[in-house]
Amino acid sequence: MQTAADLKNLLTRIDRRGYPAYKDTRESYQFPDYVLSIDHVQGDPFAAPSKLSIHIPGKQAGFPPALYRTPCQRVALQDALTRRFGHQASQASFQAKGSGHSGLIAVSRCGQEVLERTACTLDPKNGDLVLRLEVGFPANGRTINARELEKILFELLPRYAAASLFYRNLDARQLQAVADLAEDQQYIRTILPQLGLCAFVANGSILPRASGVSSLPLKGAIPFQSPSELEVTLNLPHRGALTGMGIQRGVTLIVGGGYHGKSTLLQALELGVYPHIAGDGREYVITDPTAVKIRAEDGRSIRNTDISLFINDLPNGKDTVHFTTEDASGSTSQAANVVESLEAGASLLLMDEDTSATNFMVRDALMQQVIHRDMEPITPFLERVRELYDQHGISTILVAGSSGAYFHPADCVIQMDRYVPHDITARAKEAARAFPLPDAPLQPARAPAFDRRPKPSPAFQGGERVKLKTLGRDSVCLNRETIDLRSVEQLTDSEQLTALGYCLLYAQKHLMDGRRTLRQIANALEQLLETQGLSALCESRSGIPFLARPRRQEMLACFNRYRDLNL
Ligand code: ADP
Ligand code: MG
Repeated sequence: MQTAADLKNLLTRIDRRGYPAYKDTRESYQFPDYVLSIDHVQGDPFAAPSKLSIHIPGKQAGFPPALYRTPCQRVALQDALTRRFGHQASQASFQAKGSGHSGLIAVSRCGQEVLERTACTLDPKNGDLVLRLEVGFPANGRTINARELEKILFELLPRYAAASLFYRNLDARQLQAVADLAEDQQYIRTILPQLGLCAFVANGSILPRASGVSSLPLKGAIPFQSPSELEVTLNLPHRGALTGMGIQRGVTLIVGGGYHGKSTLLQALELGVYPHIAGDGREYVITDPTAVKIRAEDGRSIRNTDISLFINDLPNGKDTVHFTTEDASGSTSQAANVVESLEAGASLLLMDEDTSATNFMVRDALMQQVIHRDMEPITPFLERVRELYDQHGISTILVAGSSGAYFHPADCVIQMDRYVPHDITARAKEAARAFPLPDAPLQPARAPAFDRRPKPSPAFQGGERVKLKTLGRDSVCLNRETIDLRSVEQLTDSEQLTALGYCLLYAQKHLMDGRRTLRQIANALEQLLETQGLSALCESRSGIPFLARPRRQEMLACFNRYRDLNL
């Protein structure tokens, strides 16, 4: 290891030389309070910025182990420190002059959800702290401007680090509150199954967001208030008693007029698989962690998926037990999305009629009379939803404002009325008796086998380096192929998409051998992330990228949308 003085000398030597001389800085340097590691140096001022990391021994960082006793508390603390460092960096109006990314200082930008990230890691064994950042090494044209880099490395970073990464300089009560909230949220998640619930929405929660492009809470929103029939009171370890709406496992229907807040409630439940930061309004909206939002997704590819639960006897004689297409329809895509979610281990499905294929959801009596059952390849979800729960323990929460047919299979019917939920189960069931469903001579479904065993794709067998690029929250590209993830609605951060790209690469290299099933591959990946962390996904030759942890449900969703998946 070199000293900070060595780095200063080096910078003096390479000042005004050609940009490649920056490569010599790739090293670790002992600063007074931490080790600064320059992990990757960009090739020119316009290339992706250089990767740096700050390493602080546990003793110096000084965070009391009580703040990161459980994994969820540790993730919350890492998240809080990342936000704090990012806040410091964004407040400084410093911008080095120069070409390309000169002077840029970038850290992960955290949204409303608390995610495990490579941006900041705290070793649970000894409290050692690592913070990762990107810096655009400054240049004029292609000539090194080392004076500006010196300013960044010797003035700014030490100042940001001091203000955000050392316990003695931080507000102890605030950090305690972060740890307590994390533990309370985790408590709710673990208590849900014991209470027979699949979701909980605390009274007072703020569900709507400020706008379609902002995930901040809507100001002046009507706070959530549970119907008395569905109210449960939990006793959280820190906050104490907390009352809210408990949604029982089974089939739950959310109905109500247009614009009365149905989709808003469902969207809050979708993201309730993640913890939220204090002040978000959804801190105590907690959903079964395996929940998957199901929607129609015309145009997606499907590889060898058994959709016979819903689709049989297609007019072209196409096999629906091993269904493959490059361009799925609304109904076949939604069928595949359900089956693949079950394969990924979902025990709760979330659906909104706004984003569903109508013919997948229902078929009314009149249509059934005119178009005989034998002529219709689709068994609508309506006819399977009960069976999914009764035979397989898969619950469903469904927004359906336009069809009363689901009153029949529902266990619970919630009406949203001007953003206030009411339990109308008894009334809805009573009314439904006057509109019986046509007798469905339904054959019990054969459970899908879930034995797809992918082999490595030819695209990866050459052994060349694969180019991976994330396009925001929308898609991730591996070499030429773009995996469209816009309809995988529970992805919330572009760093999760980057991580998915690396998951797929890792699986291609080490796991997809034609013997492991997709489920086993997801298990192996989860195990890897659990024991070695996110950075185990990538070879760190050019520094560890910013990654955020996806769930196994999204891993498989990504693999299933990869058009070169070799199945
Ligand atoms: P629906 O799905 O029933 O048609 P939405 O959930 O899309 O209705 O909500 C319609 C509008 O009402 C949205 O703009 C949403 O932000 C707003 N909204 C939802 N819940 C609330 C609330 N609790 N307070 C105020 N506005 C809300
Ligand atoms: Mg809606």
